[in-house]
Formats: sequence, C-alpha cells, structure tokens
Amino acid sequence: MRIWNSDILRLLLAAFLAAIVSIFSGHFLYLLLLICIIYIVRQAILLNQIEQWLQSGAKKSPPSRSGIWGDIYHHIFRIKKTNKKRKKQLSRIIEQFRKSTAALPDAIVVLDEYDEIAWFNNAAKPILGLKKRDKGQRLPNLIRAPAFIDFLSKKDPDAILSIASPANAQITLQIKIVTYENNAHLLVAHDISYLKNIERMRKTFVDNISHELRTPLTVLKGYLETLRDMDDEHSPLLTHSLQQMNNQTLRMQCLVDDLLILANLETKKITHQCIEIQPLLAQVCQETGALDSINNRVELFVDSEVNIMGNEQELHSAFTNLIVNALKYSPEDSLVSVRWYQSGQFIILDITDLGEGIAELEIPKITERFYRVDIQRKQEKRGTGLGLAIVKHVLARHNAQLKISSQLGKGSCFSCVFPQKNFC
Ligand code: ADP
Repeated sequence: MRIWNSDILRLLLAAFLAAIVSIFSGHFLYLLLLICIIYIVRQAILLNQIEQWLQSGAKKSPPSRSGIWGDIYHHIFRIKKTNKKRKKQLSRIIEQFRKSTAALPDAIVVLDEYDEIAWFNNAAKPILGLKKRDKGQRLPNLIRAPAFIDFLSKKDPDAILSIASPANAQITLQIKIVTYENNAHLLVAHDISYLKNIERMRKTFVDNISHELRTPLTVLKGYLETLRDMDDEHSPLLTHSLQQMNNQTLRMQCLVDDLLILANLETKKITHQCIEIQPLLAQVCQETGALDSINNRVELFVDSEVNIMGNEQELHSAFTNLIVNALKYSPEDSLVSVRWYQSGQFIILDITDLGEGIAELEIPKITERFYRVDIQRKQEKRGTGLGLAIVKHVLARHNAQLKISSQLGKGSCFSCVFPQKNFC
C-alpha cells in the first residue's frame, strides 16, 4: 500500500496541476487524458525494462527505480539471491553424497521403473562390469544371468541373490534390491568372495579331518574287539572299561560318518533320477523298524502314486534319519506313522510319532549342527546332533522343505514337502 501511495500521490498531484492550468486555459478533461496517456506509456516502458532484465537472467543488480517498480526489482532480486544460496547448499550436499557413495566398497546402482541405469558408483565398474556409456541402458540387457533377471523382475525386498560377478567369475556377489519412492530401485552388490573362501576352507577341513579320523578309528575298533574276545571276565573293571571304550569308538565312528555325509552334501553335485517312492519307503521302514525292536513299530501309508526326481541314496539317508529319530524319541510301545500323500501342488512325507515332543522355542534350533535338546536327558539316547542337519541339506538339494510341528508330551510330525516341479 505504501508503494502505491507514492504513485497515487504523483497522479493526484498531476491532476491538481492540470486543474490549476485548466482554470486559465480550460480543457481540464483533455489535460487529464494526456496525463493518463503519459502515465500508461511510462508504465509500459518500465514493464518492458523489467521483462528484459528478467530475460537476461536477472543476474545484474537491478536498476534503481522509484515507487512500485523499484520494490518489484528489489523483491525479485532478493528471491533470486536466496534461491542461488539454496541451490549452492543443495549441490554441496549432492556432491558429498556422491563422493561418499563413490567411496563405498559395495557396488550401488540406481535404477528407474524400467530397470534403466540412472546412476552408479565407482565400485560398480569392477564389481558389475558397468561402464560410463551404460547409463540409460536396461540392466537386464547388461547382466544376462537368468537367475539375476528373475531376481530383478521380482524385486522382493527380503530376497538376497548370490551370483558370480559378470566382470570376474572369481568374485562372488550378494545382491539386494531396495525400493524407494514409488518405482525407483537401488541395487546393492556386496563382494562375499572372502566368506566363500572361508566356507570352502571349512568344508575341505571337515572333509579331510573326517577321512583322516576314519582309518585310526577302524584300527582302534579292531583292537578293542580283539581285546574283548580275549577278555575272560576275570576283571569286571577291565570288562567294563573295554565296553565303554567300544561304545565311545562306535559313537565317534557315527560322528565321523555323519560329518562325511554332510561334507559330501555340501561339496558333491547331485544327480537326479526318477525314484519309485513306494519301494524306497518300504525298504526304509523295514530297516528302521527292524532296527528298533522285535515288534515293528513303523506303519507305512502310501496314499499317492506320484514319484519324484531325486537322489535315492540321499533321500534314503534323510528318511532313515527322520524315522530313527521318531522311534528314538518316543516310548518303545508307541507307533510311528509314515505317510506319503499329495496336497495341492505338493507331495508330502509325514513322519508322526507320539513321543516326548519338542518345545516351540527349540524347533528352529534342532536342525542346526550338533544341537541336541536337553543334552543331560539325551545322554542315554545316542546321537550325533547331525541327523536333522543332514535331512535339511538333502531336502534343500531337492528343492524341498522340512516342516516341523510338535507338542510337548504329545508327539511330533516332521514333514518333507516336495514341490510339483519334482514330480515324475
Ligand atoms: P540326534 O543325533 O541328537 O538325534 P538330530 O539332529 O537328529 O540329532 O536331532 C536333533 C535334536 O532334535 C535331537 O537331539 C532331539 O532333541 C530333537 N528331535 C529330533 N527328532 C525328534 C523327535 N521325533 N521327537 C522329539 N525330539 C526330536
């Protein structure tokens, strides 16, 4: 309002002068019209000047003008200055962000909704083999591994993919996709080659040590048997000691055997063939039932004729472990049921016992190596703590899952769930 006041004041003053002049000369209205025309022309010239100043980017300091035009120049110039300052701050932050992400050892790629590369950091060059000219290209056209293309299309935030680096087959990568905003994605690739090497060394070590232990154990067991045969039971202490030594050697032999099975599962490639399940299950039930007692406690129900692709030896070992456990951890007069049936797109083997059951908190742990629930109580029940780890590995090699449901004091059900793609 203050600004307008000076312009209005000027107009009023001009009108007043026109009135005084018109006292002598008449033509008050003509004079007023002339004043208005001059005023409009002046405004048009000033408007044109400000338009030219803005067109040149308003970089030069504004020309000094009085009244409303002076204030308009001043405001525009001030807003421009503040924006410039903000822009500088923002580009400094962006620069810092770029520098820090560029320094990250992990490869980072920003993808748009069409999986086109918007930006990547320096580490993406050696790790993913990306080049400057790849910006704007679709990532699946550059990294063509089918597993990667499938992983990228799903964009599952919880999934992690392990693949060999497309730039260097010696590098193993762990890849994760993070979605931000609506359709933008961040691909993070972490080099886990050193972990893979440690894992490989661990596997080789376990494999070697198990093989090395096998021979001395066999020799030891042979001598112990000879000593037991020679023992004429005159010394109860000696008889007891020989018995204990024999038991412990047997235990160690089971441990070494299980470790070797696990090492093979981890290192050897699996060979698949169509397996007739009915005879396999009948054989396992017969063997395990016969092992347990004179009364066969195992009952078998084969409700589906579907067979599966797999490795017979491995499946034999997994099913045997589950049935032996069911027998071992349930009363000697209780039955164990083994049932093969189809449920929707899955074929399932249920092994159900009426035994001691497993506490809910323990269930996720029992498939870990060497984990045994309540070791104190289990001392009298022989075991290595490796049986379920073997089962889990075998099933994973068959794209199958182990599901465990159990109630303390009532019994347990171990289910091997095979997907449809295994049917044959
Ligand atoms: P172990 O040689 O001790 O049997 P496993 O890996 O086969 O080793 O099993 C791990 C643990 O899981 C066992 O020590 C036992 O506590 C528990 N477990 C396995 N199967 C059953 C079952 N059918 N009922 C109750 N507990 C079980």
